[in-house]
Amino acid sequence: MRDLYASHAAALRDALRHAVERGGLSSLAVLHQGVPSASTLTGTDATAQAARVRRQLDRLAPLPRALIVIAYAPRSLKCSCGSRCCAGTFPNPEWNEAMRATLAHVAPLLAGRAANERLHRALIANVLTRTKETAVSLAERCGVHRDTVAAHAAIIETDLVGNRQTAGRFDHASARIDALLREAGTVADQDTNAARLADVANDAQARAT
Ligand SMILES: [Zn+2]
Repeated sequence: MRDLYASHAAALRDALRHAVERGGLSSLAVLHQGVPSASTLTGTDATAQAARVRRQLDRLAPLPRALIVIAYAPRSLKCSCGSRCCAGTFPNPEWNEAMRATLAHVAPLLAGRAANERLHRALIANVLTRTKETAVSLAERCGVHRDTVAAHAAIIETDLVGNRQTAGRFDHASARIDALLREAGTVADQDTNAARLADVANDAQARAT
C-alpha cells in the first residue's frame, strides 16, 4: 500500500489484495519486496490505508461496488495452510460474491435467451478486466454457438461499459469511486509524475504475482 496514488485503479488493486493477504505474508516475503520507498506503507499503516480505501468503496450501491470488485480484486487467493493436499490457492469469496450479484443483475436483460451461466461469467469477467477473447474461443470454452456469444456479449457489454453514445454502469461506478478516493485524499488530485511512475511499477508487480 502507498499513502498516495495517481489512479483509483492502483489504490483499489492494492486495497482489495491487501486485506486478504495480510495474514499470509511471511517476513521473508516482505524482505523479497525490497526496501520500501518513503511512500510505501507496511504493517499496520498499510492495513489502515486498505481500510480507508474500502470505506469509500462501501459507500457505493451493491451493484456498482460488485463491478469494481470484479475489475480490481484478485480472483483467487494464496493459501498458506501448508497442507499437502492444498492447491496453494482458492477462489476469493469477495470476488465470487460480486460475480453472483452481477449475474443476478444481467439475468433479466437476457430473458428469453438460453441461460448459460458459464458464458455470462466469462463475458462479465472479460469486459470488466479488459480481457480480449474472441467469440470463437468463448464459444468453444462455453459450449455454445458463436452467434450466441455475440448476442449475449452485445447486451452485457452495452449495459456494463456502454457504447459510443452512452456510458455503462461500470463507467459510472468508476467515476464515483474515483471522486470519493480523491475527496478522501487517497488519490492525488494532480497526476504527478512520481505518483504515476509508482503506479506503473505497482501494476507490473500486481501482474507478476
Ligand atoms: Zn491451503
